[in-house]
Amino acid sequence: MSVNLPVTNDHGFYEIRLESIGGLGANLSGKILGELGALYLNLNSSNFASYGSEKRGTPVKSFVRYCDVDKEIRINSPIEKPHILGIFHERLAGKIPVMAGVDEKTIVIVNTNEEPDYVRDHLKMCAGTLVCIDALKIAIEEKTRINMVMLGAIAKASGFITLESMEQVVKDTVGKKYPAVLPGNLAGIKRGFEEIVVKKYENDGKYPYQEYTEVKREWGYDNSPIGGVNTIPGSTVTNDLTASREGYVPLFHEDKCIHCGLCDTTCPDMVFQFVEGEYRGKPSMVNKGPDYHHCKGCLRCVEVCPTAALTAELERDHDIWKIHVRNKDLVVESMEFEDAGANSIVNTESGN
Ligand code: SF4
Ligand code: SF4
Repeated sequence: MSVNLPVTNDHGFYEIRLESIGGLGANLSGKILGELGALYLNLNSSNFASYGSEKRGTPVKSFVRYCDVDKEIRINSPIEKPHILGIFHERLAGKIPVMAGVDEKTIVIVNTNEEPDYVRDHLKMCAGTLVCIDALKIAIEEKTRINMVMLGAIAKASGFITLESMEQVVKDTVGKKYPAVLPGNLAGIKRGFEEIVVKKYENDGKYPYQEYTEVKREWGYDNSPIGGVNTIPGSTVTNDLTASREGYVPLFHEDKCIHCGLCDTTCPDMVFQFVEGEYRGKPSMVNKGPDYHHCKGCLRCVEVCPTAALTAELERDHDIWKIHVRNKDLVVESMEFEDAGANSIVNTESGN
């Protein structure tokens, strides 16, 4: 017997859009939700994702459609007005227009440790039901991933996806492939289901409705420097990878650093800021530490450091923005940084 969808749009679809950054598992979440609909809820369902290079830090959208079994899903267009919007990291707001299409009928689920009123203001949410879940904290405590906690929260907020059905689809998919992490995944789903904080907002005029528009490429072949050369350290000049981290950062202990450069050659995003200086009385390039703006938290640098000058620490335990080295302080050539953030994440959607 199929579940009853609580609401559908004019085409008879119940639609979910997930907004995330590569590495947080939104693509997998969309696949799980798609499979859940067809195999466990006896609905028709479809899922597809939209992302650029399969790299941590690039924007990811995943779309899920459900409808009753007597109807077919024949469209593959992006979901513009979702019934559920999952935002896998609150810092996505302002980088890309994640709140597009949200109105009083939308349930917005956000991974955050903030209170709903603060989150509403941060997201500039015009109206709807706001669901806050501290998925990062739960994921760390249960040794699972943010996406598992978000799936639990989505199930609870939907009102028609049971905890049991969500647990079952995860057991049958991810659990078969990675049985060692199944207990943590199930614990994360359960806590996501149980620990959501919900608040409804009327359309009180505080923030306007945001229309859905495709984000166009900010930096491309026609306006980048010749050869696409990046003249400033960091993965791209404006790329903020903060939202890719899953709770941990490399902490730099300058007193232990021998300036060997291994972290620099290992880091895929050129986070470390080396400047001309002196080491042991001789001219040398010296490590000033990471620019956390570009760090995606993979911790490869911690693994490779021979002197424990880098340690993996919980980001919430340290005010890293006070200690990080911002590359604009170090580069010779100056560029505008502060205003670049709003549209800085290059959107390379495949659109399929
Ligand atoms: S690998 Fe460690 S010791 Fe070498 S430069 Fe990096 S932080 Fe310093
Ligand atoms: S964790 Fe280390 S290696 Fe990974 S992106 Fe950050 S600085 Fe680079």
